[in-house]
Amino acid sequence: MKRIYLDNNATTRLHPEVLEEMLPYLREHYGNPSSIHWFGQEARRGMDRARERVADFIGASADEIVFTSGGTEADNEALLGIADSAGKPGSRIVTTAVEHQAVLNSCRYLEKKGFVVTYLPVDSRGRIDPGVLADSIDDDVILVSVMLANNEVGTIQPVREAAAIARSKGILFHTDAVQAAGRIPLDVRELGVDLLSLSAHKFHGPKGCGALFVRSGVAGPVLIHGGHHERRRRAGTENVAAIVGFGQACRLAGMRLGEANSVIGSLRDRLEEGIVERVAGVKVNRCVEHRLPNTSNMSFEGVDGQLLAMNLDLMGIAVSTGSACQSDTREPSYVLSAMGCSTGQATGCLRFSLSADNTAEEIESVVAALPELVEGLRG
Ligand code: PLP
Repeated sequence: MKRIYLDNNATTRLHPEVLEEMLPYLREHYGNPSSIHWFGQEARRGMDRARERVADFIGASADEIVFTSGGTEADNEALLGIADSAGKPGSRIVTTAVEHQAVLNSCRYLEKKGFVVTYLPVDSRGRIDPGVLADSIDDDVILVSVMLANNEVGTIQPVREAAAIARSKGILFHTDAVQAAGRIPLDVRELGVDLLSLSAHKFHGPKGCGALFVRSGVAGPVLIHGGHHERRRRAGTENVAAIVGFGQACRLAGMRLGEANSVIGSLRDRLEEGIVERVAGVKVNRCVEHRLPNTSNMSFEGVDGQLLAMNLDLMGIAVSTGSACQSDTREPSYVLSAMGCSTGQATGCLRFSLSADNTAEEIESVVAALPELVEGLRG
């Protein structure tokens, strides 16, 4: 069976050039980058180059990059670290109802410690209203965290406007850019953010590696305590090979961003058109004007999304119903619920997420497979 992978928001295939770049750091350059001898310094050089590449990718400078074990740790470091350094019980954090669980559950943890969290609502397209954000800010707010692009529906938030509001009130601003990276251009200065989370495996880098951008001048949030690694901002011997791969993934993504994503966007549009044309009772959950080029989320009336995804898997088509981190629950998607979808729509959904690996032929196979399958399940 020829398998079709349309779950790139869960993770992506490691790019062969990323693997090539990593291999010497698993075989020969195995030194500890903190060691002063040749072995250590070779590893350090690889890491320094990767740090430059990650920084270039987001318009930052190298000393503003803190390597982490991925997007989850970067989000935790931003939220818990800033709460620790700038907050006290009763301090407030403002975020949105549609963040990834890495942010939401960090906020819930902070609520237990006495912090007060405001979860901004979104409209039917999944966007926050910057005016509501402005109204929600008072003297107790220490951090605003608004994701750049949503992992389930691909909606892009008005982060530049939101960051400007926070800045005008002297409040730090974090954005989770894990799903945006490699799919839309990123520039931390243009966005005006103080902290930004990245994860390598969402754009053809290795799993278990990411970074937190911390704007120079922001007192470092620290989550993991220990040695003097990462300029004392994140302790622990660095995952050198993965960091080197992350750097290469950033370089490749930066080079291919425009062209690859316009092709991916056309495939995504064809997928939506084909399905909506051939299957009745489909609602596309999207923001037409502000969305990632690779993500499509659709609700199929009267069908259980999990069942549909499992049946597609039997046909060799890999999709998901939403976040991979929640695939063990049958709860309706909280993102779709926040967008005003009914329970049926929020459980009867599929998320298709594409990459440059997908072809027009694959999309046509999916469009051809769905009508009969959906009809059968409805029957
Ligand atoms: N933030 C968003 C928006 C995500 O989609 C994900 C992963 O799905 C994460 C954070 C967590 O990243 P990681 O898998 O690297 O921990």
